[in-house]
This record gives sequence, structure tokens and C-alpha cells, in this order.
Amino acid sequence: MAQRLRQEDYDVVVIGGGAAGVAAAVSAARNGSRTLLVEAGPMIGGEMISGLPIDGCLNTRGEWVVGGVARELFDECDKMGGYVGAFYDWRTIWVVCVDPEVMKLAVMNVVMRAGIKLLLYTFAEDVVVQDGKVTGVVLLNKNQRTLVTGKVFVDCSGDGDLAHLAGAPHEMGGEEGALQPVSLVFRMMGVDTERLMSFVAEKPENVAVAENPYYDNISREEQLRRLVEQGYPKVFFVAKGPLISAGIASGELYPTALMGIGPVSMKRREIYCNTTRIANVDATDTEKLTQTLPELMEQVWICSRFLAKRVPGFEDAQFSGIAPRIGIRETRRILGDYVLNFDDVMNAKKRDDGVAKGAHHVDIHGSGRYQLRQPIKDGGSYDIPLGCLIPRNVKNVLLAGRCLSATREAHGSARVMGTCMAMGQAVGTAAALASSANQLEDIRTVQVGALRERLKEQGAVIDGTH
Ligand SMILES: Cc1cc2nc3c(=O)[nH]c(=O)nc-3n(C[C@H](O)[C@H](O)[C@H](O)COP(=O)(O)OP(=O)(O)OC[C@H]3O[C@@H](n4cnc5c(N)ncnc54)[C@H](O)[C@@H]3O)c2cc1C
Repeated sequence: MAQRLRQEDYDVVVIGGGAAGVAAAVSAARNGSRTLLVEAGPMIGGEMISGLPIDGCLNTRGEWVVGGVARELFDECDKMGGYVGAFYDWRTIWVVCVDPEVMKLAVMNVVMRAGIKLLLYTFAEDVVVQDGKVTGVVLLNKNQRTLVTGKVFVDCSGDGDLAHLAGAPHEMGGEEGALQPVSLVFRMMGVDTERLMSFVAEKPENVAVAENPYYDNISREEQLRRLVEQGYPKVFFVAKGPLISAGIASGELYPTALMGIGPVSMKRREIYCNTTRIANVDATDTEKLTQTLPELMEQVWICSRFLAKRVPGFEDAQFSGIAPRIGIRETRRILGDYVLNFDDVMNAKKRDDGVAKGAHHVDIHGSGRYQLRQPIKDGGSYDIPLGCLIPRNVKNVLLAGRCLSATREAHGSARVMGTCMAMGQAVGTAAALASSANQLEDIRTVQVGALRERLKEQGAVIDGTH
């Protein structure tokens, strides 16, 4: 029987509870907005709870370029014993490693403390648009449909669902439908990490090190020595090295560009492994996305057996976990008032209207063994202007995260989690500033100068030569 829509009203409605959405909702609520955070899945935190390191928080020089909500999450994790550390990978970037199981708790603590209304298992399926403004979003869950009205809507869905439904244009992928692979991260515990790193030192031809020209004054051998000496099990086994290429040639492994390994818990001697991949899948096609899961799971098992059999240190290791969902690197890039480009990223461009910073190298995975990596000039960071986070054709929508307005190359840098959180904090704060106005005509009336000041007061890194 047909039912009337239930109705609810908020100041700010955030769609998507990944890295960007968590930061956006926390910031909107902290700045006085009645905030709803809507997440289609059963958990919040996105890839931060998969075991992956959080990239883009520090530039290659080791300076923090992301603060605010991201630092608060790390502090919360630290208090609960789940912060592994921030360190240089001696290939090209600084990473922040956390225990994903503790991060699940830390994210929830921070979100609850901020006073956010959280709605899990809920999908934003439609929008109501009047005169270029979104007046409501239709949510679907076990309580049937609800129309949620609000002043400002923030799209952190990763795929840009809300902006897309509201009529904003987008681009997707590269030439001939190229899309970065979907992957499934997994974990192994009981790893003899000293033995693993001794193997790295003995067989350096297997690993990627010393790729960033910022450290060209330090020899490859010395960078390798420092990688091993710093004591973390962090290594990228490369496809062209004898270990992986023999595995692929013998059929013991599937074709892959790299096998990224890093710590999630030093006490449990547990590592994450990022290596499985299926490229060129449109992850907004749910049927196609679902079809990748059996193959990705098979790759997980193949790789875990390969590690146990072929890689010193893994002899007695146990398979200990799998990411809560298929990891999606690339879908829609919503077109905004400004499109971040390759030069902005590579030349570490600073801007007066910057509201977040990115510091990750351009990092585009392809099919099989292909991966493009290009480091930022002088190991620095670039500014992301508010215009990248305002979708075209709509007046009261903001976005953050991997659906930002960027060329494919720039997206290859800005998509990482530290940068997503910085963007999230910027739009959550902007949404709160905008929704406090009596009559919001257009989100573009937000004063960028005032927004930057508020962000700085709340710990975000905005200025500086980083
Ligand atoms: C395999 C892999 C390895 C990576 N490696 C790293 C790494 O080492 N370090 C790093 O920093 N980054 C890494 N990245 C990139 C990074 O993890 C992502 O780009 C980033 O997490 C995206 O965050 P987000 O918040 O924009 O989107 P997402 O994390 O995708 O979050 C979007 C959320 O929105 C929800 N959602 C979507 N549509 C709707 C809807 N219509 N209604 C309600 N909810 C919805 C989803 O369920 C999801 O939880 C990797 C990515 C992958 C896939």
C-alpha cells in the first residue's frame, strides 16, 4: 500500500560516512548546525577502517598539512592504543598507520561527541530541486522513505550521487573507459616483521624505494637502510622484481603492479596488504561491482598463500581479516566552479581561496602491472580552492572526497584519505556558516576569508609554505 513520506528537517545533511563525510559532519555540528550524517552501509569510517594507511596528512618533507578533525581522530585512536605512527615510507610519501579495529571505535566516539544524528543502513536515492536549490533528499531504509529537508546538503558519497541527482555535470575515468582498479585489502597477523625487513635489506631488487627526487641527496642504499632501520614492516614489493614476477610467471600470483604492505598493529605483529585488483569496472553499476567480489576474494586468498609460502617472515603468519567492503578508487568526478588540474598539483600551487591541502603524489593505478606515480615539486603541498567543492548548477550543495572537481591526474593525488578529511572539514564548516544565514541564496555567498579563519581556529592547516 502506498505510504506518505515521513519528513525530517536539519540544517546540514551529509551523505556518506567515509573519511570525507565523517570530517564534514563533525565540522558542521561543531560549528552549530543540526547535522544529519547518512550512510548506506553498516559502519562509518570508510577506508580508514580497512587497514590502509592514511595518506596526504604530511607532505614528503614531513610537515603536517592536514590538521583539525583528522588529528582529533588520530589522538582518539592513540588514547585507545590504536595509533601506530606517522613515518616516511622511503619510497615517496609520509603515511599515518592506524589499527583499523580501534579506528572503528575512535570514529564513532568523535562523531557521537560532536552531537551528530547518525543514520546507518540508509541510502540517499533521490533529491527534490527547486530553482537550482535542493530542498530535500529522499532516503530509503527499513522505515520506508523519508524526505529530509535542509539548508545545505553535502555530498560525501564518493560517487557524487547527490550532486549528480541534483543536476551537476561530471566526468568519469580516462580514455576508452579506463578506471582505476577496485581492490580488496586484507590483513595477516603473527608476522615476523624483523625477518621480513631483513629480507627487504638482503633483496632490495624486489622493493620500491628512493623514488622521490626531494631525497635525491640520499643514496638509494641509504634510503633502504633507513627504511629497514625505522622498524616498521612497510614495504612495496614491485611487479618487476624477481619475487613478484616469478610468482606471476608461474601462475602462483595474478598480474599486479605492486604488493603494498604496512603495519596495522605492532603488538599483534599484524600487517595490511594492498595488492588485489580488477581494473576498468564502473563501480556505480552495482551489479558489475558485486560481480568483482568473488574474484577479489580469490585474489586475497592466493596472495595470502603466496606470502606464507614465498616471503620470509610470513611462515607462521595467519590470515586475520578482510576489509569491510570493496575499495573503490575512482568513479564520478563532479564538475565544480573550479577544476583542480595537474599543474596545480605538480607545482604545489598556493591560493588565497585555498580551504584544504593535498600532498600525495599523482597516483593512478591501471590494469595488471600498470601504475603512474609522479611526485609533487620539492616535496610540497598544493591548495584546494573552495570552487573544487561547489558543484555547478546547484546553489546549496557542497561536496568533498574522491568525487571532487578535478582532472583525472589531479584526482589521482587528491583522492587519498588525509586530503578527503581536509576537504570534509572545509565543506562542513562552510555549510555551517552558510546555514546560519537567515535566508541562504547561494552557497557562493560564503566569505572564503571568514571560512579560512574559522578553519584555522579549529586546527586546519591553511596557510604556510608547506
Ligand atoms: C584499494 C585502495 C587503496 C587505497 N589506498 C589508499 C591509501 O593507502 N591511503 C589513502 O589515504 N587512500 C587510499 N585510497 C584512497 C582512499 O581510500 C579513498 O579515495 C577515500 O577513502 C575516499 O573517501 P570518501 O569519503 O571520499 O569516499 P568513500 O570512502 O567511498 O565514502 C563514501 C561513503 O558514502 C556512502 N554512500 C555512497 N553512496 C551513498 C548514498 N547514495 N547514500 C548513502 N550513502 C552513500 C558509502 O557507503 C561510503 O561509506 C585507496 C583506495 C582504495 C580503493
